[in-house]
Amino acid sequence: MALLITADQVLQGPAGARIKDGAVLVDGSAIVAVGPRGVVEALAGPDVERSDHPGATVLPGLINCHVHLAFDAGPDPVGTLGDTDDAALALGMADRARQLLAGGVTTARDLGDRGALAVRLRDTIAAGDLPGPRILAATAPLTPPGGHCWFLGGEVDGTAAIRDRIRRNVAAGADLIKVMASGGQMTPGGAAMWESQFDTEQLRVVVDEAHEAGLRVAAHAHGTASIVSAVDAGVDSLEHCTWLTDGVPDEREDVAARIVEQGIHVCSAMSPNWRAFIERLGPERAERSFARLRWMDGLGVRLVTGTDAGLPFSGFGDFVGALGLYEYLGFPLERIVEMATTRSAEALGLTDETGRLAPGLAADLLVVAGDPTTDLNALRDPALILARGRRHQNG
Ligand SMILES: [Zn+2]
Repeated sequence: MALLITADQVLQGPAGARIKDGAVLVDGSAIVAVGPRGVVEALAGPDVERSDHPGATVLPGLINCHVHLAFDAGPDPVGTLGDTDDAALALGMADRARQLLAGGVTTARDLGDRGALAVRLRDTIAAGDLPGPRILAATAPLTPPGGHCWFLGGEVDGTAAIRDRIRRNVAAGADLIKVMASGGQMTPGGAAMWESQFDTEQLRVVVDEAHEAGLRVAAHAHGTASIVSAVDAGVDSLEHCTWLTDGVPDEREDVAARIVEQGIHVCSAMSPNWRAFIERLGPERAERSFARLRWMDGLGVRLVTGTDAGLPFSGFGDFVGALGLYEYLGFPLERIVEMATTRSAEALGLTDETGRLAPGLAADLLVVAGDPTTDLNALRDPALILARGRRHQNG
């Protein structure tokens, strides 16, 4: 079934790639043509179904590179998860996936769930049986015994256990491997967030085993030492990348240069509630923490977008709110759209599938009133959401 979408402008994804008075032709799950309205109309023929949107923008569906579908975004997601059996958890995860899609997210990377339930949900959505974004699932994140998020089932002690865990994740259908290179904030009794949980040698084993299976490695790393180890080990993305030593900011320019050189993507995973972060830390410390994003960007580090959805007060429906942080930091809006689409697709290894509007790619797209490159709020409440060609109706 073909669909011709026309609008005042088409943003193809990369900053600067803009077609005024443009059109996108979709056939089934794929994009067939993108270009000026007249050209695409001629290709489509007179009988095609039309969806005309004066005053609107067509752009690629958004990509959230850091979510946890297993967490409910309530005040105590870990406690709630512990009290929820797999059947109820699967229902909650399906509902949260639907919320992501309703907010314009057509691809989400799940960086840690329980029992590989995100793999089942991924396949159900892909089969068209439930609404939701394309999901990449890390399944159980690797962590030392009792370490950060141990309750997700990925505890490993020593290199043999690391290899075994990765093989189990691969067998369960994982799309990538997540490793908790440093401690975090939500595991009682675990390492402090800046403390390393694995040494460089162990992280090398993680990368070696994952790459052997053709999977990328995402490393959760708050501490500078853990960032250095992860970069030495050759991970593919750094999550949070907070640059802390003993709780104090400690950025290293030589390491940032290697992040750029090695093509490692960085996802800050800041929630849509980032203003509360300012209130909690105070403006000075918050600014010091946010400044690392500007600093990395200035050095050429490839930043991508994610929200840690599922953590307390990081809901699944407000991706646009999280993008607002980058506007606050002074990023041009066109670049924010690029980060949330094309760059994030690169980070996930999906450039042949999504992240741009181009012939042959999946029909993951949004139609929004107005122009998100002059007002990000235009991304809220899209008039049309297509995920792999399927129309999602909000409300
Ligand atoms: Zn996370």
